[in-house]
Amino acid sequence: MAAVNLLNLDREALTAWFETLGEKPFRARQVMRWIHRRGAADFGAMSDVARSLREKLAQQATIAAAPVLRSGTSSDGTRKWLLGVGAGDAVETVYIPEDDRATLCISTQAGCAVNCRFCATGMQGFSRNLSTAEIIGQLWMAEHELRPAAAGAAGEAATRAISNVVFMGMGEPLQNYDAVLPALRLMLDDDAYGLSRRRVTVSTSGMVPMMDKLARDCPVALAVSLHAPTDALRSELVPLNKKYPLGELMGACRRYLQHSPRDFITFEYVLIAGVNDADRQARELLQRVADVSCKINLIPFNPFPGSKLRRPDAQRVRDFAAILTEGGVVTTVRRTRGDDIDAACGQLAGRVLDRTTARLGARHALAVPS
Ligand code: SF4
Repeated sequence: MAAVNLLNLDREALTAWFETLGEKPFRARQVMRWIHRRGAADFGAMSDVARSLREKLAQQATIAAAPVLRSGTSSDGTRKWLLGVGAGDAVETVYIPEDDRATLCISTQAGCAVNCRFCATGMQGFSRNLSTAEIIGQLWMAEHELRPAAAGAAGEAATRAISNVVFMGMGEPLQNYDAVLPALRLMLDDDAYGLSRRRVTVSTSGMVPMMDKLARDCPVALAVSLHAPTDALRSELVPLNKKYPLGELMGACRRYLQHSPRDFITFEYVLIAGVNDADRQARELLQRVADVSCKINLIPFNPFPGSKLRRPDAQRVRDFAAILTEGGVVTTVRRTRGDDIDAACGQLAGRVLDRTTARLGARHALAVPS
């Protein structure tokens, strides 16, 4: 019988599995705290768990995240891990420290089926969904690797290294909903990571039905990859738009706001020279989002091999942003982080793999909403 990977189980699932072992719910809670709060990977270390249970767990269970293939730290403190997920695939996790927060950007799929035109992940195609263990394992690994340094910097009081999580790495999270949902629940659970809903952001390219489902099941902060103000252009850039056009998407955003822990949606907009960066398009964008409480995060396109698209110059980005700001929408421009370790957006996992020379270019890798 294959061992059960406990990283796949949220509180409810872990409690149910413990019941099958004849163990009480409080034992599941105890083990959950050891795994997620203390980073234990070894049942033998769980000193307040009965020896008989520890032995049972050692025989029937495991605690296994995706292995780290390589990692690096940038001069600006950005840290990146490349994780092997089998069959030559790799995904990545990026840690982005800032003055007032420390954000972990995580992946949910190996590759992506949405196939956005400006994204090298899309060009690379879709391999598979990550499991819950592979998703929460990114936080588990990073939190416990970084916590000793965080405690050193902040004294004994530091109990957490990562304050925010964004689902903006490789993949479309809402196309892997069944694995993402338990991972979200663990992030929010006080016996695991205890993150506030406002500090966990799911980013979607516009999976309208799943946005409604997320609002019901586990509302967290939401970012939507918009990238164009009109259906004609958005359908070219984000093919999913043909299925869920902008009218439906904006409706889903308004519905989401009724449940959201934040009173705004973050719209991500990759600025591509000569494609979606004209003044006229900024004004159309203002009209498009007029009925949705939002912030807009502009992401100057990061070119990658094989893409014919170009990055606008800095003045064009400023002018576009100014129109939005003058129109009354809080607008930020993403700063590039981690350049020297290939952790900037568009320079991620795929690059180091033999299997493909395509670079992972998730639009959202370092687009951290404020
Ligand atoms: S931008 Fe996001 S949704 Fe689109 S192909 Fe890339 S990873 Fe997938």
